[in-house]
Amino acid sequence: MSTDATGRKMRAPQRSMRIKLSDHSGARRAEMVYLSIREAIREGSLKPNERLTEREVAAILGVSRTPAREALKLLEARGMVSSVSGRGLVIADLTPENVSELYTVWEHLEGLAARFAAQRASEIDIHNLREIHRMWDIRSGPQALGRLNKQFHQAIYHAANNRHLMSALGGIDDSLALLGATTYAVRGRPAEVKNEHAAIVDAIARRDQAGAESAAQTHIRKAGRLRMSIMARRK
Ligand SMILES: [Zn+2]
Repeated sequence: MSTDATGRKMRAPQRSMRIKLSDHSGARRAEMVYLSIREAIREGSLKPNERLTEREVAAILGVSRTPAREALKLLEARGMVSSVSGRGLVIADLTPENVSELYTVWEHLEGLAARFAAQRASEIDIHNLREIHRMWDIRSGPQALGRLNKQFHQAIYHAANNRHLMSALGGIDDSLALLGATTYAVRGRPAEVKNEHAAIVDAIARRDQAGAESAAQTHIRKAGRLRMSIMARRK
């Protein structure tokens, strides 16, 4: 037990601080479980329509049932798992209509982010964007390009500096995880993306708001069309 400057015992304040900390770490644990499941979905180790129970999640990730339950609630609220009668919770399966809607919204949000970035990016933001773009090597594997693509878009959102937009784009990213494998495995796509990204960076650097918005929209529209054609081929 510690004492303050006047020598008084400080048991009570310490205890309340401990309670807050433990609540906070509980929420953080649920968030960690949530992120782990989202990654497993993104990487394809959890597939659409696969059943997910609180008990399994707790056992696999070595956590207690409470954070597992909280994480599943969060996944359900964000549309990544859905409740199916008689089966409990399953990984959501997006229909072609869902995917088309998702890309339409993403196209507009991404355009807005690029427009804001052209307006507000600092010289450092532009330098960072160029550096990330320079690292784009079409010989890298689809996974590495997927990660770099994410970094590139995060850098645009950072430059756009609008937390409402950031939060909306975070929701889109959650849904994109449901689509599994990236489109970079498609022959020729990595080279196309390199050019599309270059057009976005150049417009942002020359402070061309309309140009940046249009380049970003074109990029997402093309990605969406490719995604739809991959889905159609799988059916
Ligand atoms: Zn991109």
